[in-house]
Amino acid sequence: MLSLTVLGATGSIGASTLDVVARHPDRYRVFALSGNRRVDDLAALCVRFAPRYAAVPDAEPARRLRALLRAAGCTTEVLDGPDSLAQISAAPEVDAVMAAIVGAAGLAPTLAAARRGKRILLANKEALVMAGPVFVAAARDAGAVVLPIDSEHNAIFQCLPADVQGDARAMPAAGVRRILLTASGGPFRTRPLAQMHTVTPDEACAHPNWSMGRKISVDSATMMNKGLELIEAHLLFGLPQERIEIVVHPQSVIHSMVEYLDGSVLAQLGNPDMRTPIAHALAYPERIASGVGALDLPALGRLDFEPPDPVRFPCLRLAREALAAGAAGPCVLNAANEVAVEAFLAGRIAFPDIAATDEAVLAALGHRPSPADVAGVLALDAEARSLAQSRIERCAR
Ligand code: NDP
Ligand code: MG
Repeated sequence: MLSLTVLGATGSIGASTLDVVARHPDRYRVFALSGNRRVDDLAALCVRFAPRYAAVPDAEPARRLRALLRAAGCTTEVLDGPDSLAQISAAPEVDAVMAAIVGAAGLAPTLAAARRGKRILLANKEALVMAGPVFVAAARDAGAVVLPIDSEHNAIFQCLPADVQGDARAMPAAGVRRILLTASGGPFRTRPLAQMHTVTPDEACAHPNWSMGRKISVDSATMMNKGLELIEAHLLFGLPQERIEIVVHPQSVIHSMVEYLDGSVLAQLGNPDMRTPIAHALAYPERIASGVGALDLPALGRLDFEPPDPVRFPCLRLAREALAAGAAGPCVLNAANEVAVEAFLAGRIAFPDIAATDEAVLAALGHRPSPADVAGVLALDAEARSLAQSRIERCAR
């Protein structure tokens, strides 16, 4: 029995995780769940999975959750406060933590799990990008196993030899030449550029292949998601960015590829459904059923590829610049982007202003030295957010 904490249980990855878990009651026990604002959903999950704890950061939602659980006769104990999420990640009873909170809010509990040497199923790419070397060192020092949930990184992981999968430093000896990171191109891949100023949040969130939370959906529309994934791949697999190529593949069937020195290219394919990488990481190194249907290649007929358009998707260049600076770039870029996406979703700025905000903040702060510890990461993150906010005040409509 693997005892599991699901951070971000009320989200899209949370739902897919609990769907897989529910298929294997003999293998997984839910120790704790976390949510934030969707308290009714969290209460329903507590009734269904009977975790020992449920954690929400703020006091008022926690009060509502307690009332709902009492009315339902559910004995799950509700924790709240700033440390409650780290508490359910680091508890000695926990074997594995699904890190599926969106954004920087997931850093503290994910880092707490890393420091306790837990198995980390990492969906929360923002936490990794913002804290980069600090996070990687914490996981390595404590012997935490980090299993990528992001479909591309999970695919790359599956295409690597077993002795390299969890050890970026072993990559050169494995004969890896390049990583080919696939990208769908999102909902605006072919939209006339002249229309980009008027696209709405709902249009940006209507991803052609994946059903996801709103923040990552907007990131997919700007392709900042692929930019963050480039940084994520660099951190997880230790290859320099020149050896990570981004290929647009609109069908999202090949989830990514690894190219070897002899010219072999290994790819992982599957229907676009996050339950596949989640099941892979939950059971690793075994395999379990995920509920995902078989890939029907004849019905699919064809797989297409094209290079990404640098004019349409400036965020890809920004991510490469952030990495090239070899400094605080990734942390600064992530913070600016979170603030800009929130402003776009709230209708305060136009779609192209997201990349413009990211670019301005990166230019101003991206060359700072890389923070040496978590306090430094949080201070830099706060400074970048505040700069992004003030820029947004100026261009808000
Ligand atoms: P959702 O928006 O669907 O879910 C986000 C989760 O985080 C919810 O449980 C939400 O709680 C919680 N949350 C939000 N803000 C806070 C906060 N301040 N403190 C604590 N918890 C908070 O996002 P997704 O599930 O789509 O994405 C989660 C992560 O996984 C992201 O980092 C994303 O990049 C990554 N990912 C997602 C993929 C996908 O297919 N969805 C694919 C690959 C990566 P509540 O809803 O209760 O407010
Ligand atoms: Mg992805």
